[in-house]
Amino acid sequence: MNIDEIGSRIAGEARRPLQAAPATGCRDGKPAALDRLQHPRQHWLVTIMTIDLLSLAADQMLLGPDGLLVAVLLRVGVVTPLLLLAIALNRRSRNAALINLSNAIASFAFVVAATAIGQWAPEPSASRYMMAALFIIFSATIFAVLPLWHTRLLLALSMLAYGGIVATGLRLPPGYGNTDLIGLGIVLALVSLNIRRERDKRIAELRRMRATDAARTIELHQANARLAALSTIDPLTGIFNRRYLDEAIGRGTFPIAPSRGSGVLMIDVDHFKRFNDRAGHAGGDRCLRLIAGALQAALRSSEDIVARYGGEEFAVILPDADDAETMAVAERLRRAVADLAIPHPDLCDGRIVTVSIGGYAAAAGESFLEAIECADKRLYVAKQDGRNRVFT
Ligand code: GH3
Ligand code: MG
Ligand code: MG
Repeated sequence: MNIDEIGSRIAGEARRPLQAAPATGCRDGKPAALDRLQHPRQHWLVTIMTIDLLSLAADQMLLGPDGLLVAVLLRVGVVTPLLLLAIALNRRSRNAALINLSNAIASFAFVVAATAIGQWAPEPSASRYMMAALFIIFSATIFAVLPLWHTRLLLALSMLAYGGIVATGLRLPPGYGNTDLIGLGIVLALVSLNIRRERDKRIAELRRMRATDAARTIELHQANARLAALSTIDPLTGIFNRRYLDEAIGRGTFPIAPSRGSGVLMIDVDHFKRFNDRAGHAGGDRCLRLIAGALQAALRSSEDIVARYGGEEFAVILPDADDAETMAVAERLRRAVADLAIPHPDLCDGRIVTVSIGGYAAAAGESFLEAIECADKRLYVAKQDGRNRVFT
């Protein structure tokens, strides 16, 4: 288990509440402000569809029977279905190009229809129809219904169409009296484009901030995880320290399996003071590192935990182990240390560094602290019995 794995194992608990808690003002993990800025399109489409249909009342007042027929055909038969299609695609589709295309077609259909219907109205109403269409496009610009370059194109085409209609009058005589409206239209087009650019800038800025925030949050979690790992690792041996064990026991991280219980081993290096006195503190440290490595390597799986309990003592937790298994693992650990064959400089006859082990298999429902105490007592017995042995 490397330090990052240990970090994520330890920090998992601490991190969970952070992940679960939605940030203030967020819906589906997205800041509400950004959400509002990005999704006004459907509201806009519904609004202009309503305006389109309500305009039939004005058509009835202003147009003759031919004009009214054209208005009904265009508004109900063409513009409304196109708007409905655009609304459906905005709601359901994830294809941005398709959404943009349907929005552009629906918007342009609205402009063409309003302009065409206006041709059946007496002046000055004809120009008002076109002006109304332009206002819709200005609002589309502001509410970012289309990408910016689509919007610019639509604005330019619509202004040209409007200028052309005013200049030529199409089926009516030229309405030069409406050139003031062209001026107004150009000013409003520029203003709406400016508002749109500001809005796009704000959205881009919010996105950048959100990305930076997310990156910082990840970095913070990683740093926390590393810190948590470091604070629970024994710097000398690289295995867990007592703090980890105490916290894990406090958190109830090791379940005492209902069927078999869990084993607890307390391990103490034999005659280590004498080893230290002869080999020196640095030699003693090297010996402790070797022993920790051997114990770790002899565990059953990564579910088992070995921790340096203090000084030259180690504690082992064996989740889901009964008496026999606890005994077997304890014996394996004792032999693993003996197999290191580290010569003990203060014991005669070429004797080596050994450990004594007290083991206790806790039953379901027993507390780990009590189990550790029992194992400790058994360790004392193992020492009394002559060391280099297991007592369970
Ligand atoms: P016993 O067989 O009864 O356990 O005897 P012991 O000498 O091992 O026990 P004792 O408790 O008398 O001595 C433990 C020694 O472990 C004392 C100290 O010098 C040594 N020790 C404790 N922590 C460290 C450490 O971090 N590094 C080194 N080198 N030695 C340590
Ligand atoms: Mg000791
Ligand atoms: Mg000792």
